[in-house]
Amino acid sequence: MSKEAYQDDIFILRVQNWQTADKYAVCFSRAHGKIAFIAFGARYPRSTYGRLIQPFAQLSAHFTPGARMDVLRQCESLFLPEEVDIEMLSYGAVINEVTENLTGDHEPQEEIYDLLLQAYNLLGKRNKRIVTISTLLKLLVYCGLGPNLTACTSCQKNPNEDGYFSLAQGGFLCSNCAIGDELPCSLGTKTLMQNLMNLDFIKPQEFTVRGQELMQLEQILYKFILYQTDKPLKSLDFLEQIQG
Ligand SMILES: [Zn+2]
Repeated sequence: MSKEAYQDDIFILRVQNWQTADKYAVCFSRAHGKIAFIAFGARYPRSTYGRLIQPFAQLSAHFTPGARMDVLRQCESLFLPEEVDIEMLSYGAVINEVTENLTGDHEPQEEIYDLLLQAYNLLGKRNKRIVTISTLLKLLVYCGLGPNLTACTSCQKNPNEDGYFSLAQGGFLCSNCAIGDELPCSLGTKTLMQNLMNLDFIKPQEFTVRGQELMQLEQILYKFILYQTDKPLKSLDFLEQIQG
């Protein structure tokens, strides 16, 4: 890691209080990937930048590298969310937590930065549940963990019928190859997963979503993310509460 001070555009994923007056935050940046940083004095009322450091804020930030985490020197707002309702907060928190869990520190990946900005924009305009699933699928793809759905991951055949999803093989399994401990994955669920993985966030296509397929897809997706990261999502408990 470079010891030089640096500037970058960042999207804040998570913020927590630190010591008596500081904030600790994790962000995803345009050119440096994920950065964990400390903002000294950010909770003092007179701190000019302290109020900017909140989840979903987009900032232009200056850092100096530290031994364990980088130190924020100054920042300016590029975009500060005005009012984040509880639904937005809940879905956004899931996207942010998965991003944090799937990515490594200081591993630049500009497409993930762009994805986060686009996802956040789309969350305010479209069905939040759909946008969230689509974002998580795209994140998996960008991290090299995209589910393999084009054919059975075992026999490579592509039967046009309901099958299973194998967490270990990271993709679709036909009913001939399944041994029984896989998750059910109907043909409709598989198609929905492909559609959401390829959804255009600039000009989203229209397609029908069936409730049952959506639920099956969510079950597969969240179990697959847990399988890949080994970290239960704290934000998911809260989301399940508001989804009822
Ligand atoms: Zn097969």
